[in-house]
Amino acid sequence: MKYTNSLAFAREQDKKDSLKKFRSKFYFPKHGGRDALYFCGNSLGLQPRTVAANITTELEDWSRFASEAHFKAHTPWYSYHEVFAKPLSKLCGALPQEVIAMNQLTVNLHLLLITFYRPTAGRYKIICEASAFPSDQYALQTQMNLHGIDPDKALVEVTPRKGEHLLRTEDILKAIDEHSGSLALVLFGGINYLTGQLFDMPSITRAAHKAGALAGFDLAHAMGNAELKLHDWQADFAVWCSYKYLNSGPGGVAGAFIHSKHTANLRLPRLGGWWGYDKKTRFLMKKKFIPMPTAEGWQLSNAPVLSMAAHKASLDIFMQAGGMSPLRKKSRALTAYLESLLMEINSSGYKTKLEIITPANPDERGCQLSVIAHGAGRELYDKITRSGVYCDWREPNVIRFAPAPLYNSFTDVWKLGQAIQKCVR
Ligand SMILES: *Cc1c(COP(=O)(O)O)cnc(C)c1O
Repeated sequence: MKYTNSLAFAREQDKKDSLKKFRSKFYFPKHGGRDALYFCGNSLGLQPRTVAANITTELEDWSRFASEAHFKAHTPWYSYHEVFAKPLSKLCGALPQEVIAMNQLTVNLHLLLITFYRPTAGRYKIICEASAFPSDQYALQTQMNLHGIDPDKALVEVTPRKGEHLLRTEDILKAIDEHSGSLALVLFGGINYLTGQLFDMPSITRAAHKAGALAGFDLAHAMGNAELKLHDWQADFAVWCSYKYLNSGPGGVAGAFIHSKHTANLRLPRLGGWWGYDKKTRFLMKKKFIPMPTAEGWQLSNAPVLSMAAHKASLDIFMQAGGMSPLRKKSRALTAYLESLLMEINSSGYKTKLEIITPANPDERGCQLSVIAHGAGRELYDKITRSGVYCDWREPNVIRFAPAPLYNSFTDVWKLGQAIQKCVR
């Protein structure tokens, strides 16, 4: 596809966009009285306009039915989480019984590490990506401490080659193979938060299994952004948050995937709570913990319904949009358009050169482009934001732009290109 740097071209693309009506389902922050250019969906997704009504319904059910709302609410609170089995399983390519909406991402990571990181004297290492998100690093380190294992010896980071920003799949697979004798777990991001690199999850999973280890993924930047097939890939577990591409609000209820090859094994060690207890006999309040034979068996507490009401508003929109396949199609085009505009700025002879560190291959990235501005620094980012663009800065020197296919348009991207060009000039 040939991309043209003109407003007319961008408008033409928007006209042809089968997902264009979804933009009006979100609130945009304002800049100078107008909708700002929002490219921060990788940090906090925009608020769906239906969120307030959904939460109000729960508040009304609370005032009308009080404790009875557990069974009488529009969506009974007792089983509220069940409404997410279908949309979440669709978004991550799982069976409905393999997913659960609960807690926060890092909490879920800890809960699943308790189950799936069972180090022995011989097998105790974890392989992860260098510059993994700090919370993941802390989770892995402290889980190792919990088992009396020294992270300096047991946590293996795969690093980019000298002078490169991205990880080569062959290097990841080689590291897994090299440590295969002592490897317990491979824990990777689906998409790296800093570079926007989409990792080859099926190959990583296969390599981990071949090495006699398990494979888990942090999908914070992949859920609602990439096409996932966790069940078919045979991934052992995954976790995600819902406030980024899933647009479910700050601190929104997170999620987890546990493959069906594990869920039925009731003897798997875990931290238990009453909401993970077998549904049929939960209220007999028996002493011995009997978990549900599904991902629900990892729940601890009863559901945070108000936060789930926001989550539901957003996932309803994802389902109306037809799931990830049409969204990815648009997303590839939006991001490629932004890429072409950045390249054009680079060829205009300015002193500042924009290096896109995100992979150029659309199969190896989601919607985000990460840019290092050579010859400029943080002041360029500050200038761009002052002109009404929401993007973000990640230390030491990366500016991230994430055009989200649910609510961003080609015109947004064109305007972003104009704004960046003005600041670079
Ligand atoms: C955003 C993000 C988190 C955030 O964790 P919370 O527990 O939701 O605060 C964790 N890991 C990655 C990779 C992220 O991008």
